Amino acid sequence: MRQGLEVAEAQQLVLSAAQPLPPENLAVGRALGRALAEPVRSTRRLPPADCSAMDGYAVRAADLQGADRRPVTLRLAYEVAAGGLCPRPLGTGEAARIFTGAPVPPGADSVVRQEDAEAGDGVVHIRVAPSPREHVRDAGEDVEPGDRVLDAGHVIGPAEVGVLASLGRTVVRVSQRPRVAILSGGDELVEVDGDVAGGRIVSSNSYTLSAQCRLLGAEPMYLGIARDRPDDLERLLAAGLHSDCIVSSAGVSVGDHDHVRPVLEKLGCRLHFWGVKMKPGFPVAFGSFEAAGGPLVFGLPGNPVSASVAFEQFVRPALRRMMGHPHPFLPTLPVRVAQTLEKKPGRLHFVRVRLRREGDQWWATSTGNQSSGVLTSLARADGLLVFPAEATRLRAGERAQVQLLDVDALGDGSEAPGSAERPWG
Ligand code: AMP
Ligand code: MG
Repeated sequence: MRQGLEVAEAQQLVLSAAQPLPPENLAVGRALGRALAEPVRSTRRLPPADCSAMDGYAVRAADLQGADRRPVTLRLAYEVAAGGLCPRPLGTGEAARIFTGAPVPPGADSVVRQEDAEAGDGVVHIRVAPSPREHVRDAGEDVEPGDRVLDAGHVIGPAEVGVLASLGRTVVRVSQRPRVAILSGGDELVEVDGDVAGGRIVSSNSYTLSAQCRLLGAEPMYLGIARDRPDDLERLLAAGLHSDCIVSSAGVSVGDHDHVRPVLEKLGCRLHFWGVKMKPGFPVAFGSFEAAGGPLVFGLPGNPVSASVAFEQFVRPALRRMMGHPHPFLPTLPVRVAQTLEKKPGRLHFVRVRLRREGDQWWATSTGNQSSGVLTSLARADGLLVFPAEATRLRAGERAQVQLLDVDALGDGSEAPGSAERPWG
């Protein structure tokens, strides 16, 4: 087991131990947020035929040369609506009334918008000279049979759901959601509705960590609170052996009541590392039950901020990898620090910050008390500013990276720079 790793080294060890879970079949409508386990190929052509992009008239462009200078009158041959059929090819000097999405008749090669025409009795007067293919959606311009439409690992969003539906896919093969066993340890802990007399505290970590799992699309399974005794901890950890990942908090440091590491080893877990040079969250243990093809195990610190921050750095990438997701880590934003920050060298600090924009520049301001027990300053944070391990000072105005905990912190389009000039309002 390695000890006292840099954050990036520890993350690499986690990523190399985490494997994508076996795929499962899901109804397309339920696959939102899942990563495709295999590429999607099309057996269809989309659009299936040349079709009109406008309500208007299907025409032969050659008939309308010079119509922009002197209107041309065409015979109205027939009408074709979306989903309709063309009774016969369009002849010279003829137009067909056509609607958006309707197939363009054979013989026609463009569509004139109805705004550029005037209907008469059995005829239509046209005052534009269309270029060939104007307002025509070409058959197969979106998808051809055999096209690889989406790659494996592609995450399914609303547009992907629509694409899959267009291809007639009712079922799609995606990576499974990991089941994450969550437990806490400590004699001071009670459940949320428990009696807090005598200085007891709610095991908030169970709730925070379950919520973090859910946000990623993983499935938390709450195992409960273990008392500070090896046998009780062993009982709960053993109950988690059927999961894909075990996340425990507390009891992983070097105190007399910290039993997580020895109990894990007793259960047959191979520990890969303990201790990461970061703050908050130094005492992090990571291991796996490889022999049994069992779960990965994270022993997170007990302090609420440490547990949550360590989850983002290590558990999140593991779960995302299991889900076949291409981006394991939190997204980052380049910022400038609003006030000078100082620390000792040796550990990377994750500073809880709020984000504010001035013009095109984002500024990060500390949310206040950075103690690892003060969860409210994490609740107020938009992100975690990365204060590198060996740095001792980040001066006001200096550049840094912020890991985004909530992309909504970037605001919505109404606040975008230059939004007043947007042509679409
Ligand atoms: P430990 O790792 O057991 O030394 O715990 C470190 C600190 O985290 C202590 O102040 C604990 O009371 C607190 N703590 C431990 N587990 C939890 C939990 N599940 N929820 C909230 N705080 C916790
Ligand atoms: Mg404890």
